[in-house]
Amino acid sequence: MKQAKETGRTCAYRYCENTFEGRSDKVFCSDQCRNHARRDQLKTEKWNAPAFYLKISEIIKHNHKILKHLFDDKGDNTVITSFLLRDSGFNFEFHTRILTTSKGIYRFCFDYGWLELENGKILIVKNDRMVEI
Ligand SMILES: [Zn+2]
Repeated sequence: MKQAKETGRTCAYRYCENTFEGRSDKVFCSDQCRNHARRDQLKTEKWNAPAFYLKISEIIKHNHKILKHLFDDKGDNTVITSFLLRDSGFNFEFHTRILTTSKGIYRFCFDYGWLELENGKILIVKNDRMVEI
């Protein structure tokens, strides 16, 4: 362990015991310690994230991919069956926004969305306003 000067501060990286002097807003003794600390922090954040964070974002991204693919393939007014959508792995439970109109309730996964029509039909739409923050 190194001798700490009275005026020196101890490096904020938990595995480092160096003391240092310098600007008062400096908290690490070196760039290396700052980088290590940052890496540790990111690891901790990832570790603490509940499993559903990742799982649900994967579902929504997958839904988005399917909607985008169908829309890009067939264009405006694409109507498919809910059976086909479900069959392609689409999960109706998860979406990012809801738009209520006189035609019904649109559900969006980012900029692509769907509206349930009668007889098990689904209308696929694109709306850039749904990703404006
Ligand atoms: Zn250090």
